[in-house]
Amino acid sequence: MRFAARFLILYGSQRGQAQSIAEEICQQAAEHGFTADISCLSNQHKYNVDREIRPVVFVVSTTGDGDPPDTAHKFVRKIKNKSLVHDHFSHLRYALLALGDTNYANFCNGGKTIDSRLQQLGAKHFYATGHADDGTGLEVVVDPWIEGLWDALKKIFSSMSTSNQQSADLSDCTQDNYHKNASGQEKNKSGLEVDLQLLKLSEVDSQKEKTITSDSSDVETLSTALVASLKQSVPPLSESVLNVPALPASYLEVCLEQVSTEGETVPSDKDGYREVSISKAVQLTQDDAVKNAILLELDISEQSIAYQPGDAFDILCPNRASEVEELLLRLDLQTRKNCAVQVNLLKNKHLPKLQPRAYSAASSSLQHPGKVHFVFNVVEFPACPEHPARTGLCTGWLADHVSSILRPLGTVPASEHLGTSSQPKVHVRPRPSSTFHLPADPSIPVVMVGPGTGVAPFIGFLQQREKEREANQEATFGETWLFFGCRHKDKDFLFRYELERFALNGTLSHLIVCFSRDEPDAAGTVNRPTYVQHNLRLHAKNVASILLKNKGCLYVCGDAKNMAKDVNDTLLEIIGNELQIDKLDAMKIVAGLREEKRYLQDIWS
Ligand code: NAP
Repeated sequence: MRFAARFLILYGSQRGQAQSIAEEICQQAAEHGFTADISCLSNQHKYNVDREIRPVVFVVSTTGDGDPPDTAHKFVRKIKNKSLVHDHFSHLRYALLALGDTNYANFCNGGKTIDSRLQQLGAKHFYATGHADDGTGLEVVVDPWIEGLWDALKKIFSSMSTSNQQSADLSDCTQDNYHKNASGQEKNKSGLEVDLQLLKLSEVDSQKEKTITSDSSDVETLSTALVASLKQSVPPLSESVLNVPALPASYLEVCLEQVSTEGETVPSDKDGYREVSISKAVQLTQDDAVKNAILLELDISEQSIAYQPGDAFDILCPNRASEVEELLLRLDLQTRKNCAVQVNLLKNKHLPKLQPRAYSAASSSLQHPGKVHFVFNVVEFPACPEHPARTGLCTGWLADHVSSILRPLGTVPASEHLGTSSQPKVHVRPRPSSTFHLPADPSIPVVMVGPGTGVAPFIGFLQQREKEREANQEATFGETWLFFGCRHKDKDFLFRYELERFALNGTLSHLIVCFSRDEPDAAGTVNRPTYVQHNLRLHAKNVASILLKNKGCLYVCGDAKNMAKDVNDTLLEIIGNELQIDKLDAMKIVAGLREEKRYLQDIWS
């Protein structure tokens, strides 16, 4: 006998996001041949991690100042109990998806709190923890994390089944949920290959005298003889390896409203969005560059939108037209597409709301009054068996949207001759940063690290500085260092001429660039720097002295996953070498710099 591999999902949700992700996992489980039980962490009578032998998947959000959600408080209190012994959870195999927002302090701390305590008490990960950032869109981490979960589950189930735990144990779960042995053994004798969940449905549906439910109170042994029906089979069919997933419960409710909305595509501005014209679109990279970077200029002169360099803007993008068409087709609504349709997700059900995308301002309003610039790469996903090649939803849409006014760098903007009515429009909302700004005292030295489009906020910083220097020639300005990196000097050196101007007129004291994929020239050094952190290392003395002696600030912007992590490691190394201290002490110093807001990151993945 082989039961469907069964695992447990526990979620701690504040506003429903963790819950809907947990439910999404639960729903997808069936498609991957698993059966999942799901419970809110607050329903402590429904699960018992102290004795749980199934793999457990936690989805936990963060609220307040890095607190676990209210629904997880009791659970956290319970696992924090000091009387628990160090191997209290040594039986537990789990994966954890933490949700947070990097715009707030203590990113993902709700999940991290649970994760670290489980580890302390001997629980083991069967899959690496995911940290999803609402600041950039949870789906960026959530989707690939869920995708990887299935393989991890397969592995843990196969390793568990080779250990002493037999598959019946895995599927039958804890005694709190099922009276496993009686029912399990009964079925074992029959030699059937049955998904327990299907049995549950068939039994309940056919009103046989025995039922299995996930509540402990009314569990009975499963001893009813199976009768062939549409929902259950008898030998020989039941002896073949079949695992038919249960029909998912309906989750979508569609109501048609009578009002025609033809032409109405404008979202309400109750969330602070304004419609603004895109007055300029410039391709910053050569056609043969690895990534295609585009600069957009938004005309915000008609709107009362103020921003400082270091702030970002949320951009709203619509759903992909082809996907909307597909949904209309599936809902049989093609002929009613100009009617307002209210699509409601039934209580407790997956579909994440389309999130705005945030881009850093790449300009200063001192230099570009009434305008804001931002820059983005057109994200490209290569073709795979599930879908053809496609572009990122927002960046692909933006690139199409501005194609009529897009011009290569250094050419005359055709759009200046067009009236604003013919300029493409976009909905934006400022997203101010509380900390990622130049120091109020201009004499404080700053080190900026921003490879690729990570340079965006620093263009804003430097435009601001350039203007301030012009206006206050007597004032003292601290040193400004920029570490920039791209792939090829002649293809994707973003803002090259502007940066060289800053270096020439003294706005930038040091412009340090590296090219990761250019061949070294004839006189090229053997260990030439390829990444920003290599250049930081070459200038270690200056960087250390700015941070440790001159109370300077270090800003890092760009890719969170690799670059920011490597830069952080390099910083530890620089500080460790400079002060002749070990890594742990260097980490304390770096934590202190963060605390003092002298080490600031604007990093996205
Ligand atoms: P990128 O992909 O980060 O590449 C820029 C350079 O960094 C390339 O030369 C690349 O080299 C190099 N690189 C790769 N791995 C590295 C590592 N571990 N350490 C240091 N350098 C490394 O550039 P991008 O595509 O423009 O991405 C920038 C990131 O910034 C994105 O994550 C984006 O979301 C984020 N961001 C964008 C904005 C914005 O306003 N648009 C603002 C903030 C942050 P190779 O490819 O040759 O290895």
